[in-house]
Amino acid sequence: MDERVFRNAMGKFATGVTVITTEQNGEIHGMTANAFMSVSLNPKLILISIDQRAKMLNKINEAGTFAVNILAEDQKELSMQFAGQLKEKKEAEFDYMSGIPVIKGALANIVCKIYRKHAAGDHTIFLGEVVDIELREGAPLGFYEGKYSKIVS
Ligand code: FAD
Repeated sequence: MDERVFRNAMGKFATGVTVITTEQNGEIHGMTANAFMSVSLNPKLILISIDQRAKMLNKINEAGTFAVNILAEDQKELSMQFAGQLKEKKEAEFDYMSGIPVIKGALANIVCKIYRKHAAGDHTIFLGEVVDIELREGAPLGFYEGKYSKIVS
């Protein structure tokens, strides 16, 4: 099967957008990701999937902890920044929760420690056990067919 057909099919699944954050040896690293889902209530588990070529992979492995930050509608530029899609380098501002850097103004900051990991083709799946959560009101940033979109309720 053609890779483009697979990509197009996956693009039909409308998602929100997250930035995964972690800190290793005092250096904060962020990466945009939409491969995120809730997995279990007891224990509280979530899942992310990271490309094996991404710098984020080793950083999470080393840190053992990460945060999933669900972006608000007005955070498209942050999504582009942490996907390496902006031409110029920009500073980012972070808060801390339970010792982990998180994105300011996100709709949800979900702090996790690695529960399990599993190599899956050219990605690695991390199950994260949730240790801390902070929530804000607002509209989410959406992603559909490879483009940012609004999610209207
Ligand atoms: P880099 O490419 O080096 O870093 C990413 C960018 O973030 C760079 O521009 C860097 O300057 C910036 N940055 C990092 N840390 C900081 C900091 N502390 N301060 C300021 N800027 C910083 N890939 C996946 O593996 N899984 C997914 O689920 C996934 N979903 C995606 C969803 C969307 C909507 C998009 C647009 C991309 C997605 N990607 C996903 C692709 C992924 O975001 C990019 O390939 C990303 O560039 C990989 O990051 P990296 O860890 O290799 O680090």
